[in-house]
Amino acid sequence: MIRLAIQKSGRLSEDSLSLIRECGISFVSSTYKLKTEATNFPLEILFLRDDDIPGYVQDGVADLGIVGQNVLVEAGFPDLEVEALGFSKCRLSLAVLRNQPYAGAQDLQGKNIATSYPQILGRYLAGQGVQANLHTISGSVEIAPSIGLAEAICDIVSSGSTLLGNGLREVETVFRSEAVLIANQELSAEKQDLLAQLRFRMQAVRRARRNKYILLNAPADSLEAVKALLPGIKSPTVTPLAEPGWVSVQSVVNEDDFWHITGQLKAVGAEGILVLPIEKMIS
Ligand code: ATP
Ligand code: ZN
Repeated sequence: MIRLAIQKSGRLSEDSLSLIRECGISFVSSTYKLKTEATNFPLEILFLRDDDIPGYVQDGVADLGIVGQNVLVEAGFPDLEVEALGFSKCRLSLAVLRNQPYAGAQDLQGKNIATSYPQILGRYLAGQGVQANLHTISGSVEIAPSIGLAEAICDIVSSGSTLLGNGLREVETVFRSEAVLIANQELSAEKQDLLAQLRFRMQAVRRARRNKYILLNAPADSLEAVKALLPGIKSPTVTPLAEPGWVSVQSVVNEDDFWHITGQLKAVGAEGILVLPIEKMIS
């Protein structure tokens, strides 16, 4: 049995639960409960505040956890990270009042900066040779400048609309973050084996999310052009159609390249292009 801690309720919760489910692990979740046990994998899930997860994994109260790198690094345990998970991407940025002149980090010398991330920000400023007074506050950091508590803030930004609403503008990116799987560093052999199984499944889910299965028909004489556009995992599968001079091609495309590639496929004569989601992709 291995214990995995995830955020009880917040921005990481839903994506963490769907990742576990997509790994083929079934469990009954209830927001009232502190923990639940999977029915088809030796896994126990603990629901905790995200800030507590790195410490619990470091101490072995939980074997594994899912947290943002921002929280992990701020807690001082970056070495616990074993796998980036590709969701909850965000950045920690410095922002100043909209009309305040700003030419570079040196303008923050001697200023008051409000943040919930004093460790990450302190290291960043030290790297820039800047000395500032950091005020650690745990929430509503973005209102600090308008109430006169600080001249600048350092906080999580995703769209920037919260900053705008508080009369602030983003001036520097301090840290980029995404959700990561973390693990205690002294797992038993049995738990290490379970961790390896989980990572294998998570990687298959991530790879599948990033790729699409593509099927199309093409004139046999444009096959070389089609193959060049669709390298596939090894090479595309090509089968002749009943109609002479035509072939059916099956392959896998990266989601990011997909629109671009389908345009080019049509240009070389491909027809009847079908694109399907992939459930799991094992390399
Ligand atoms: P808790 O009550 O568990 O302490 P919290 O308020 O500290 O929750 P959330 O706002 O739920 O935390 O955010 C959890 C994590 O999600 C953050 O630490 C960060 O890694 C990530 N995150 C935060 N804001 C965003 C965003 N706008 N877009 C994407 N990811 C984000
Ligand atoms: Zn938190």
